Amino acid sequence: MPFTAQHAEYGRLDATRPELGCGLDWGAIHRARAPLHCPACESQMVARVSVLGLRHFAHRRRSPDCPLAGESVGHLLLKSDLAAAARAAGWSATLEVAASHGGWRADVLAVSPDGRRIALEAQLSPITEHEVRERTARYEVDGVEVCWFDDRDRPRPWMGAVPSLHLTGPAGASRTVRGVIARYSAGTGWHAVDDVTLTDAVKWILGRRLIPHGQGYVHGLDDAHRWGYRGMFWTAAPYAAAASEEARRRRTQQEAAEARWEAREAAKKVKAAAYERFWARTGIGPGWWRAFEAIVRGAMGDDTFFGAPSQRYGDGRPLYEKRGGGTQLLAVALPARLGAWAETTPVVVDDLAGLERMTQLAFCDVKVLLAAPDTGAFEMHWVGPGTVY
Ligand SMILES: [Zn+2]
Repeated sequence: MPFTAQHAEYGRLDATRPELGCGLDWGAIHRARAPLHCPACESQMVARVSVLGLRHFAHRRRSPDCPLAGESVGHLLLKSDLAAAARAAGWSATLEVAASHGGWRADVLAVSPDGRRIALEAQLSPITEHEVRERTARYEVDGVEVCWFDDRDRPRPWMGAVPSLHLTGPAGASRTVRGVIARYSAGTGWHAVDDVTLTDAVKWILGRRLIPHGQGYVHGLDDAHRWGYRGMFWTAAPYAAAASEEARRRRTQQEAAEARWEAREAAKKVKAAAYERFWARTGIGPGWWRAFEAIVRGAMGDDTFFGAPSQRYGDGRPLYEKRGGGTQLLAVALPARLGAWAETTPVVVDDLAGLERMTQLAFCDVKVLLAAPDTGAFEMHWVGPGTVY
């Protein structure tokens, strides 16, 4: 049941507008012989009034192939409400407009005073997600935005795929939006906004106060009943900006945490490799090391402990003392090389061969402590270049 018909003299008639949008009285065509034709299939039409009092046009004969035939009263009412909402927003609204190339036919084509075009589609008949995406793309090619509307009780699955609004039915007072317009809060995410009238929603969409937002999860609440929605929805630009800012912040945090974890793992690997090199170079087994450690700590104090082999101390193991809140370097055990640190820090070795090696390495006077597990001795020596005292 279309709202528009083609009049042989007056041109396009629109039953939703005063004087049919062209200065012609309804009485002149209703229950009168009038030269009316369908704008889509060009077959003859008559003016009618539905049982609910809605003025519209109907094909004189059945025309099953016409895209305007077979529309339900529900479809007619929704188109009429969409056109009224667009007109209330100060836009012109033309019903049942087809593209000249036939690529699309808008239920309502809203046009702003400066020429922006938005198709408002009353989509009550079944449609697949693929079809609705494809039809949306055909509008986009011509620079026409589109919003799809449905007013049946259950929202259709395709509604999450394209810019759409789920409305309350035609009965009762003015229609409101059931889903989905949402606002964002950084703590709790997207929440559906309640009680927006169709008139306001269309005004905000036309005025770009609402923009379509890509896939997201929206929390909803109806009479204490929680619902959730995932898909495309409408929101205000500042909420969209806040959401992407928050997403960026979380991504940065995540990346930083991953970098810290990787750095820790890398440090662990470096440490493990340093231990491996230390045991291989010194040829020391666990029993020998325990005995060596017991002698050193017995002499140097219970508050001392060995750190991991360190390049900084010639691949030897630093001996630290806990002091106050921190640690103090006391000596370096079994280094492969001596550095400037050896001028002030004693070296600990585990046998006379070790003492001899330090003698060869010494470039200054070095204090060497001999902690020998085979004898249990703990002795202090000074070595200089080529000498043992
Ligand atoms: Zn037709």
